[in-house]
Amino acid sequence: MPVLLLVLLLGVFAYFVWRARTTTLTRDCRWRQVSRDGAWQCSFCGSKAQGKNMPTACQKVGR
Ligand SMILES: [Zn+2]
Repeated sequence: MPVLLLVLLLGVFAYFVWRARTTTLTRDCRWRQVSRDGAWQCSFCGSKAQGKNMPTACQKVGR
């Protein structure tokens, strides 16, 4: 049954997309404002950022 095979392939593909999204997303980052002039530090990976608004991306060094 080719249709069944197609559904299976789609399922595998969707699983990998979902896995890549959940592992590369920066949900682990815990940004903390360390000073009033806009210095942020991620307490999870230790990266630092400047700006008035909280950073949305993790600047994890390494992997
Ligand atoms: Zn981080």
